[in-house]
Amino acid sequence: MQQQAILVTEPSDAKGLVLGQAPIPSPAAGQVLVKIAATGVNFIETYQRSGVYQVKYPFTPGSEFSGVITELGDGVQNFKVGDRVATASGTAGYAHYAVVDASKVGHVPDAVDLHVAAALPLQGMTAHYLVHSSYMVREGDVILTYAGAGGVGLLLTQLLKLKGATVITTASTQEKKDLAKAAGADYVVDYSQVAATVEKVTQGEGVHAVYDGIGKDTFDTSLAALRRRGTLVLFGGASGQVPDFNLQRLNAGGSLSVTRPKLDDFISTEYEMHWRFGDIMGWAASGDLDVRIGAQFPLAQASEAHAALESRATTGKVLLVP
Ligand code: NDP
Repeated sequence: MQQQAILVTEPSDAKGLVLGQAPIPSPAAGQVLVKIAATGVNFIETYQRSGVYQVKYPFTPGSEFSGVITELGDGVQNFKVGDRVATASGTAGYAHYAVVDASKVGHVPDAVDLHVAAALPLQGMTAHYLVHSSYMVREGDVILTYAGAGGVGLLLTQLLKLKGATVITTASTQEKKDLAKAAGADYVVDYSQVAATVEKVTQGEGVHAVYDGIGKDTFDTSLAALRRRGTLVLFGGASGQVPDFNLQRLNAGGSLSVTRPKLDDFISTEYEMHWRFGDIMGWAASGDLDVRIGAQFPLAQASEAHAALESRATTGKVLLVP
């Protein structure tokens, strides 16, 4: 059986995301087939589409989606047909149906809408591992982060506040600044004001940690913002990848640490995946975590969704709806 899906046939700009025909996949042993309710659009798919990360063509992006299970592969025990589920670790989710390993899927609580469930797994579990595992945030820490109105940014700020940190973040427009502030950020400033704000808030000492998903344009500012023995968590490159780096700069900056994590390594065991997934879905169900869906595009308009994300026109989560 065929379905409509987005296909990329070569490294390209956003226009290379074209609606085509692809087979509905069959779940292999240990997998489930999901009828997709909504698919999360993530920055990594722009890197895959443009060739920064290598993929096999024709390529259908999409690792994050929610929906209802319609078929079980052999040996799947924890799920049944009809279950409402979501994942951050599927493949080919820019489509109507996709398969995913059952070990990478979580049940969506009844209180959580399936569109909200599509908005949370990837960026929510990312925010979760950033504050709990990449650098363990402690009450009273002063933390610098960027793009406070972005998908990760809005969730990260809320989790940092739950941990009792003081949050300095950036946003490029007044509307974005208002959203970041509403998420709980203590200081929301222009990118050009970061150094002065860190200086003022920490009385010259520097922040305990920086979460930097912007990369090329902010890396130097991030390093300079750290206090002695501070930690820079470089988790993305929305402005481009950071060029080669001389490790002696860590010594000169005060025995600094830099780490470059990715989500896969923090949900590689079922225990860790379910811990993080359960926390974020539970907080969404209880209202402790506010999930903003900033834009929704029909599947056929995936190219518009990528163009919006890359041109800084989005806030919160961007979804595709088949
Ligand atoms: P966002 O919704 O945060 O969108 C990116 C934002 O970055 C923009 O809205 C913009 O906010 C800001 N930005 C600053 N400079 C640029 C630029 N030159 N081009 C584009 N945007 C810029 O995206 P996500 O929340 O999806 O992702 C944020 C980052 O997190 C990405 O780098 C992504 O790769 C990374 N990530 C990493 C993961 C990991 O495990 N390592 C997992 C998930 C995401 P403003 O206009 O306010 O400046």
